[in-house]
Amino acid sequence: MLSFRLQQLRLLACNSLNKSHRNIIRSVASGTYNVTTPLNFIGGQRVETEESLSIIDVIEPATGKVMCQMHECGATDVNNAVNAAKQAQLEWGKLSGFERGKILSKSSVLLKQKQEEIARMEVYDTGKPIQEARVDVQTAIDSIEYFSGIASTLCGQHFSLPNGSFGYTRREPLGVVAAIGAWNYPIQIAAWKAAPALATGNAVVCKPSQFTPLTAVALAEVFIEGGLPSGLFNVVQGAGETGNHLTRHPDVAKVTFTGSIETGSKVMQNCAADIRHVTLELGGKSPLILFGDCDITNAVNGALMANFLSQGQVCSNGTRVFIQDDIYDEVVTMLVERTLGIKHGDPHHEHTKMGAMMNEEHAHKVMGFIERAKKEGAEVLCGGELVQMEDPVLRGGSYISPCIIKTGPSDSMEISREELFGPVMNVYSFKTEDEVIRRANDSKYGLASGVFTKDIQRAHRVAASMQAGSCYINNYNIFPIEMPFGGYKKSGLGRENGTVTVDYFTQLKTVYVEMNDVECSL
Ligand code: NDP
Repeated sequence: MLSFRLQQLRLLACNSLNKSHRNIIRSVASGTYNVTTPLNFIGGQRVETEESLSIIDVIEPATGKVMCQMHECGATDVNNAVNAAKQAQLEWGKLSGFERGKILSKSSVLLKQKQEEIARMEVYDTGKPIQEARVDVQTAIDSIEYFSGIASTLCGQHFSLPNGSFGYTRREPLGVVAAIGAWNYPIQIAAWKAAPALATGNAVVCKPSQFTPLTAVALAEVFIEGGLPSGLFNVVQGAGETGNHLTRHPDVAKVTFTGSIETGSKVMQNCAADIRHVTLELGGKSPLILFGDCDITNAVNGALMANFLSQGQVCSNGTRVFIQDDIYDEVVTMLVERTLGIKHGDPHHEHTKMGAMMNEEHAHKVMGFIERAKKEGAEVLCGGELVQMEDPVLRGGSYISPCIIKTGPSDSMEISREELFGPVMNVYSFKTEDEVIRRANDSKYGLASGVFTKDIQRAHRVAASMQAGSCYINNYNIFPIEMPFGGYKKSGLGRENGTVTVDYFTQLKTVYVEMNDVECSL
């Protein structure tokens, strides 16, 4: 913790310095954030790994330094966590929704008190700018607060049947839920899965990505402080093999997964073997359509929001930006100008708008897409280079300058079809509404979409035509907790957020009540 306080002091010093040198981004990431406590959380406490499959170096993306070494949990640890969850769920599932809601509500208040501390931790873990990490923690708080209220509204239906007989339905928890997350939004993903699962009476075993193990454990401690009984929210750390053990465990009733299509498919296969419930939040290659009549300033802001948050490592990003030909030149000029002005560097710095890529391997993967696009004839309008930060502290991190690529004339290039998961926006021109709808939908993905226009009828017509789980009209990448989020096509199954989520964490029991003698025809 001492090193963390030092970071904060250095941050304050840098903030005051930066008032007079607004373009100089000084480093406050030191590469000295050391994690000394165990990162598994089972039965209400941090515990060491019992069966280690391997040792994983946890790297701070901003500096490339090792923050800690972590053991990858084997079957024994997964089993311990699932057993703790199974035992705890028996009583938790019997509480009223109101009682569960009170504990979640208190947890959301405690999380708010720790928002800054956990946001800092998220920056160490992910390399994203502190301003964004604060928002991520807020979305976690919102989720827990929202589902604390939903908990007391859970109810069934009543059916009047002939001669006084009747029936009703009960919403019952599923049991133990395995929550597996990607590395781009660790605290948000953990909370978006835990809050509805716990509100509806389930217990959770969470496996964060091996790259971002810190904040799920912090969340587990907040829940305990909020009064959540031990064993209801557990964390096992590890990579694919740990996830594999978890998704095959016979006492896991449901898997809620966020990640790539490839892994999602493996998870689904494991679930299929035992007819286990599964929700999949997968990748995207979403279209954003800017019509000639749009408010250009808003459209440019929307396109930036759609591409460069979290270094472009956002599933819902509108990476295919279609611009109507009469405004194409003006919009592209503005986009390039704004993109060149994005402050890139130390993610702990208040003025930084773009931080470090998740790791070197991922940065090289993104660069590979850019290089191949160039060979296929795409034109890089700005950025798209590996940047060596001047500050020696940041030299070990991987930084890619935000990039705009002009593709075409056809949409068949690899860069137009595959998810890069990096700070790369593709721009295309189009002529007509019919044409752009066809091109926008020509994708195996269907996570999100967006349209900017002042024509209200066209806006709704286009929204209805998009083969995607979300469509933003005149904005992009906004996630109010009360609105469902999820994918069409290969972008996923099921929804997170909103009241609909209750359906994905409960099962329905139908009860028939006979008020008369049994009429038997046999
Ligand atoms: P991965 O699919 O590689 O990993 C996702 C999670 O699954 C990680 O915790 C990973 O562990 C784990 N995992 C890996 N192999 C297995 C396995 N065989 N069984 C069970 N779990 C396994 O995705 P990334 O972490 O690379 O995340 C990027 C992807 O996530 C992108 O496609 C992005 O679009 C998508 N995403 C979707 C979101 C949505 O809401 N639709 C939101 C955020 C991201 P480990 O990392 O330790 O290897």
